[in-house]
Amino acid sequence: PVNIGVLALQGDVREHLAALAESDVLARPIRRPEELDGVDALVLPGGESTAISNLAVTFGLLDPIRERIAGGMPVYGSCAGMIMLASTVLDGRPDQETFRGIDMTVRRNAFGRQVDSFEAAVTIDDVEGGDFHAIFIRAPWVEEVGEDVRVLGRVADGPAAGRIVAVRQGNLLATAFHPELTGDLRVHRYFVEMVRQAAPAR
Ligand code: GLN
Repeated sequence: PVNIGVLALQGDVREHLAALAESDVLARPIRRPEELDGVDALVLPGGESTAISNLAVTFGLLDPIRERIAGGMPVYGSCAGMIMLASTVLDGRPDQETFRGIDMTVRRNAFGRQVDSFEAAVTIDDVEGGDFHAIFIRAPWVEEVGEDVRVLGRVADGPAAGRIVAVRQGNLLATAFHPELTGDLRVHRYFVEMVRQAAPAR
């Protein structure tokens, strides 16, 4: 089976490990650069992107992960993980770093300060069934995408209707919401399928 790491510096690592374990892959937490060598792909959890950025620098993971991304490693980021894949971050801390990879501008905490978390329907192309019940927690949205980025999903209704909340560029996938918190495994399965296509069984 394929081997998928979950970046375990901060955030909802356990929930992603559990979702992957249910998706017929080997999943393990990654904290050090050497541990990256053993994985075919990486998941970046939700949490706090400024903390993940600081810890990635401290643990010497920023450049190794950027290099693996440049080498084609599949990565899926949810929420803070989406921010960590963005080429440009709005409303970030000035010293905030990302792994980059997806040519997009994301705005942190975009859905408004009065509503820290909310649920909404999201329609996602490409994923079986299409409609998601999505949980957003101080979530970003995507304000702009480059021409190589495919918009996969938008908020279906409510005040934020039409906002881009799921994207893919090559082997990189990002959602502003948290499928790891709802027990809906379709996004993880979609990612596992991406990983299988990128790294045939060994
Ligand atoms: N607001 C967080 C950030 O900027 C993301 C929130 C989340 O991952 N649930 O990193």
